[in-house]
Amino acid sequence: MSDPINPHDICPRPQRLPPLSTAPLSNPLYLSSVYRCESPDQADAVLTGQVIDGFHTGYGYSRDGHPNGDLLAEKCRQLHGSQRAIVAASGMGALAIALLSQCQTGDHVVLSNRLYGRSFGLFVQEAGRLGIRSSVVDTNDLAATAAAFNARTKLLLVETISNPLLRVADLTALAEIAHRHDVQLFVDNTFASPVVCRPIEWGADLVHESLTKIMNGHSDVVLGLLCGSEQNWSRVADVASIWGLTAGPFDCWLAARGISTLHLRAQRAGDNALVVAEFLQSQPGIDAVHYPGLTTHPDHALARRQFGRHFGSMVTFTLSGGRAAAVRFIQGCVEIPFCPSLGEAGTTLSHPESTSHRGMTADQRADLGIFGGTIRLSVGTESAEFIVQALSGGLSVQ
Ligand SMILES: *Cc1c(COP(=O)(O)O)cnc(C)c1O
Repeated sequence: MSDPINPHDICPRPQRLPPLSTAPLSNPLYLSSVYRCESPDQADAVLTGQVIDGFHTGYGYSRDGHPNGDLLAEKCRQLHGSQRAIVAASGMGALAIALLSQCQTGDHVVLSNRLYGRSFGLFVQEAGRLGIRSSVVDTNDLAATAAAFNARTKLLLVETISNPLLRVADLTALAEIAHRHDVQLFVDNTFASPVVCRPIEWGADLVHESLTKIMNGHSDVVLGLLCGSEQNWSRVADVASIWGLTAGPFDCWLAARGISTLHLRAQRAGDNALVVAEFLQSQPGIDAVHYPGLTTHPDHALARRQFGRHFGSMVTFTLSGGRAAAVRFIQGCVEIPFCPSLGEAGTTLSHPESTSHRGMTADQRADLGIFGGTIRLSVGTESAEFIVQALSGGLSVQ
């Protein structure tokens, strides 16, 4: 036995974990905000960011990087088949990294008219304050998209599957138009996930996922992902750290765990979504059912070519009776929570008019095909029979 230590000196000691002769199967969580260096030479090497086999040789300060963030980014990089990947504190953080690393004052971006609302906030309103201009076009109209480029255009931003009408972007054609004008194609793949589509394979230069949604899949984390190439990555690490957009270790640890079952969740939810869409199509009191896996969807042929067998887990439909019908449906659908997010393990529903698209005028919404009776389902991993039964509860009170 050694002499007891003075209690005043115990708090920072011991600084070393017990030696392990066996490795933990589950990934350790490294909450430390800062790391100890052996010497000034090591500090130099760590802070220059030496990388071996895709991993940093050491960590200094966790805003610049930590093992749980790198592990998650590496999993996502492999899922997308990209050269580089970074995890951000939210999907919006990852989109901000893209904007701030690829554009500067005087530049111009072309945006799909069906983007996520906050993406317009970032790329129109906030980018505008920095002197970066934008044009909003219907990117399913390839001629209109090509006509929107000018000599300062840096990015074309589209969503693989749009919200809430689930229009599909023709990535090959958009990449071809963008590259002809020396513009990078930037794809928000949140509604697809890499199980349905890997945009890099279709010519995208940058890919975004809100890891908050299908990727993590358990509604307990807000995180984002940006994937890109060596060529467009030079400013990414600095932008992320200097603007304070990087993610914390615990969220990364949770998301790495969530992603372990992504393939099972996405396949099951996708199979269920087709059953649900076909069921809704057979029901009275519904004006329209939107699902890229249905032959009636305007982008079905494109979806078949680009996605193969899976068409995602989102299904949108419009009840004939307007907002009053939507209110009755939501109250009758007791097993399906009304949550304005998506991609959970269980089925949820949203009402675009009162949530994601409430900032628009009724005319703007009508142009996109969104009405008071429009309901967006995020189909989950329960049995298809359970989900159909739950939806029947909402339809029976119409
Ligand atoms: C949710 C979402 C985002 C933003 O992601 P957060 O993680 O909420 O910041 C961006 N794009 C799409 C399509 C989304 O659904």
